[in-house]
Amino acid sequence: MALQGKIALVTGAASGIGEQTAKRLAKDGATVVIADLNLVNARKVADDIVAAGGKAIALSMDVTNEDAVNAGIEDTVAKLGSIDVLVSNAGIQIIAPIEEYSFANWKKMLAIHLDGAFLTTRAAIKHMYASGKGGSIIYMGSVHSHEASKLKSAYVTAKHGLLGLARTVAKEGGARGVRANVVCPGFVRTPLVEKQIPEQAKALGISEDDVVKNVMLKDTVDGEFTTVADIANTVAFLAGFESNALNGQSIVVSHGWFMQ
Ligand code: NAD
Repeated sequence: MALQGKIALVTGAASGIGEQTAKRLAKDGATVVIADLNLVNARKVADDIVAAGGKAIALSMDVTNEDAVNAGIEDTVAKLGSIDVLVSNAGIQIIAPIEEYSFANWKKMLAIHLDGAFLTTRAAIKHMYASGKGGSIIYMGSVHSHEASKLKSAYVTAKHGLLGLARTVAKEGGARGVRANVVCPGFVRTPLVEKQIPEQAKALGISEDDVVKNVMLKDTVDGEFTTVADIANTVAFLAGFESNALNGQSIVVSHGWFMQ
């Protein structure tokens, strides 16, 4: 129960990696705020946590909306007393070759991944400072924070950007006990990836099986997908790591796809 008494807010927690992360943080004793665009699914995740004996509430939040982020974090602190852990995880994927990538999709991608990370950080960090206890901010990066892939210009740009944000927040927040780190998953079979398999097969003119074996898992050491549990465990480790020794880092969890 490393997180007993802590308040954790996870964005994009109604599905996939965020859902599993929220459940894991609750198991470690945190009260978890399930923040997502999809309030129906967020409520289901919160109900699952409560049914398992944990503490959670659902919160409707569009991470690209400044007022919604500020209001959601103010409400959280008003109801629960503080915010000790922020997991900025909400994300999407849109693939296309750069010459066909629409400006609208480029802006949407950067807004969800980068504006969302900035807005949630700005709203939460002042409470971490004010409490005198600091806190842990964890950004959901990707192997694509370090490595490029075809068809993913906006995603790779956004995920690289998170490294810069985390390092800056680590430098600004370190003296006041705020840690900022990035978790960088390889491919995890969530709805975000299931959607991409047929899309990549079509764009690259290969079979879906080839996308999995020869695109997604080609450079792993064992041909295995990373799991939601692998990522949730890594986030929980960072959330419960109480010293500033781990600050401004990125941890790649990818079956050796990318080694730093
Ligand atoms: P997912 O599609 O299962 O879940 C994403 C969640 O984010 C959904 O619940 C969705 O409603 C929510 N969301 C989308 N836009 C939002 C917004 N504007 N405001 C609030 N919530 C919003 O996807 P996932 O695979 O669990 O991805 C989670 C994160 O992990 C993303 O940042 C993604 O880039 C990253 N990631 C995923 C993989 C992978 O292989 N699945 C690999 C590396 C990184």
